[in-house]
Amino acid sequence: MGYAYCPRCQRAVRFKASAAGGPTWLKEVASSLGRGEPAVLYCISCWLVPEVGDFIAVLDPPYGETGVEQGAVGKVVEVEGQGPFRKRFLVEFTGVSGSPKVQHLFHAHQIQAAGVEFDSSIPVSLHPPREDS
Ligand SMILES: [Zn+2]
Repeated sequence: MGYAYCPRCQRAVRFKASAAGGPTWLKEVASSLGRGEPAVLYCISCWLVPEVGDFIAVLDPPYGETGVEQGAVGKVVEVEGQGPFRKRFLVEFTGVSGSPKVQHLFHAHQIQAAGVEFDSSIPVSLHPPREDS
């Protein structure tokens, strides 16, 4: 059992690393993870890629006087672009700045899935590098 921190939301993440069936050196790596320098691992909320209809929480608010602050929860109404790093998420917020509905476009790193409950540790399975390159 080790502790990591999520680089996106700075939350502590509990994980359990194993290397079942792996070589001895890999099992030693697995058992030593979480000691010394804290490991970096996305938490479940940040790891999930939101889809239309999902609720998200804002980690990094948009610039300007938008009324949308860190921690605000909105609903994804549109996903633009392809690929994990090119997607943009159009998120709708209700009851912000006196307006009934406000929409903002976010990059993936600015938001995380909201309402995701996880109390167990994240199982991480390590495997030796593949030979086929
Ligand atoms: Zn996170």
